[in-house]
Amino acid sequence: MIILKSRDEIEKMRASNRIVAHVMALLREQVRPGVTTAELDRLAEREIVARGGQPAFKGYRGFRHTLCISVNEVVVHGIPGDRVLCEGDIVGIDCGVLHDGFYGDHAWTFPVGKVSENARRLLANGERSLYAGIAKATAENRLYDISEAVQVEAEQEGFSIVRDYVGHGIGKSLHEEPQVPNYGKAGTGMKLRAGMVLAIEPMINEGTQETEVLTDGWTVVTKDRKLSVHFEHSVAITEHGPDILSKL
Ligand code: MG
Ligand code: MG
Repeated sequence: MIILKSRDEIEKMRASNRIVAHVMALLREQVRPGVTTAELDRLAEREIVARGGQPAFKGYRGFRHTLCISVNEVVVHGIPGDRVLCEGDIVGIDCGVLHDGFYGDHAWTFPVGKVSENARRLLANGERSLYAGIAKATAENRLYDISEAVQVEAEQEGFSIVRDYVGHGIGKSLHEEPQVPNYGKAGTGMKLRAGMVLAIEPMINEGTQETEVLTDGWTVVTKDRKLSVHFEHSVAITEHGPDILSKL
């Protein structure tokens, strides 16, 4: 079932997403060689609580941390810990917040210091692919218009789209219908409507699209251990087009 949000509810979701966006802005400044992923996680939790929110991932299906932190070949769901970030790494940070009954969800991948040319290309492509998808999130379009736009943007540069994980509706639950795949055929899928709020989140790999889960039960890595990036915004569909809620 698709749950449409009223204007008031969208404003509440903007408030939750603003907390996530503030956390992400803070983390962007802290991502550097020498910092551990656990330090970033603690910082995020403090900031969320100080702003009156609750970490959304903590306790979700037994996950024990505030952030998912995914370094290099990790696609998503990396667990914060002792890992020290090094010059040349890329680090995907995914953050969810519950505030006033509604969820916010936002992810970004950052370079650590100076990164390889290929990493830079992949990062730039991930961001572009996300915005290509967001541009299609309008009430005139269909769901897979978003999906195809993301896919085309990524694949035209020779990168591959992860199929095993997808975006989602979001609201009073972290994951609502519909699923928002990052691949598909434009002109198909459900009709988009004002009041839908979608977390659009391409995961794009340097090599194969295939992934596997490590024995910790969470960490998703590329099968070929090449790089992966993840970019996500929570986006409301309005009469006036897409409204990115997770942006300051
Ligand atoms: Mg997320
Ligand atoms: Mg999400």
